[in-house]
Amino acid sequence: MFRFFPAALLCAAPLLFAQPNEQRFQRLMRDILIFDSHIDTPRLVIDEDYDFSQRHSYYELDIPRMREGKLGAVMFGVYVQPQDYPENTWVQRALDVTDAFHEEVRRNAKDMEVALTAADVERIHKSGKLAAMVSLEGGHIIMDSPALLRNFYRLGVRYMTLAHFRTNNWADSMTDTSRHNGIAPLGREIIREMNRLGMIVDVSHISDKAVLDAIEFSRAPVMASHSSVKAIAPIPRNMPDEIIKAVGKRGGIICINFHAGYLNEAAHDVYIKNRPARDAEIKAVLDREKNNPKRWEMVRDIQKRYFEKMPKVPVKELLRHIDHVAKTAGADHVGLGSDFDGISGMTPVGMEDVSKYPVIVRGLIDMGYSDTDIRKIMGGNLLRVLKAVEAVAKQ
Ligand SMILES: [Zn+2]
Repeated sequence: MFRFFPAALLCAAPLLFAQPNEQRFQRLMRDILIFDSHIDTPRLVIDEDYDFSQRHSYYELDIPRMREGKLGAVMFGVYVQPQDYPENTWVQRALDVTDAFHEEVRRNAKDMEVALTAADVERIHKSGKLAAMVSLEGGHIIMDSPALLRNFYRLGVRYMTLAHFRTNNWADSMTDTSRHNGIAPLGREIIREMNRLGMIVDVSHISDKAVLDAIEFSRAPVMASHSSVKAIAPIPRNMPDEIIKAVGKRGGIICINFHAGYLNEAAHDVYIKNRPARDAEIKAVLDREKNNPKRWEMVRDIQKRYFEKMPKVPVKELLRHIDHVAKTAGADHVGLGSDFDGISGMTPVGMEDVSKYPVIVRGLIDMGYSDTDIRKIMGGNLLRVLKAVEAVAKQ
């Protein structure tokens, strides 16, 4: 029978088979909530007069590209790198960036709205606007003060990363020396207060032992807002499988970081080797060109030149990280934490900015994920964790 099969039909067969996938893709894209747990754009508003409403040919987020990528909700990051800012400026800087976030949402009220709860996210997404949340990256910012933590909550902050690149007075960073063997008693109190308020405990950047402590101390599920997989790319910032499993076991989520140097070890090696030279060049330009309005363009050119030295990382490597967490902890425990606008343009090929999220949806369909799991991975899981944290706060 088979040999009589018309050749024309045989040629058309792949197209016929592809169609259901395309239909699934179109159906999913109609109303799927795409929710990213970590994007760093707000500081650009202060430092570079960045305007969310305009389409840019650089950086990774603006409203036109969010619309194109059907991005529905974002947890924007407020960070003050402890190695770059003197301690007495941390609070002021964080307040300024938080204000920039609120002001930018206000200026773009027809496209964006501040979300304070999971219910807000759902309502705003249904209304066709982008739900914008705000978060703090680095527990050092609250200066060991539960009062400051509460004040940031009042400003809308709904998660806090316990430490950033440096170990602080109560939590060990995974990129610094351990001073607390995880989390100190004060950190335990702060986590308890976060639980009471309804603020997600973010375990990205902290040491493996600190993650285990956070899971033990927190009454609510924890989140890794922008971390990738160590079993695939064995670099310090990534998470080993036993930690991924522990986060998942307690109902938490690991949101995959898109940084090309975190997805691929060879890319990371080149990035780390060249970083001192890159940073020195950037510093020299910023010092020399203080009054030049084109200085950020010059900085971007330097970043680009160094990025081009790194091996290219295709988007399928990002999908591998997502798939690994789904297989290790379960599809209920993986999400997206791109770190866009915080990774100096080091994006995977095919995932250059927020307009590209649909590529992940297509990728997950091709990998055999169900519609239900795709909805969870793209945003449903993050929403569930937010709800679980709110439920604990109400207890
Ligand atoms: Zn970070």
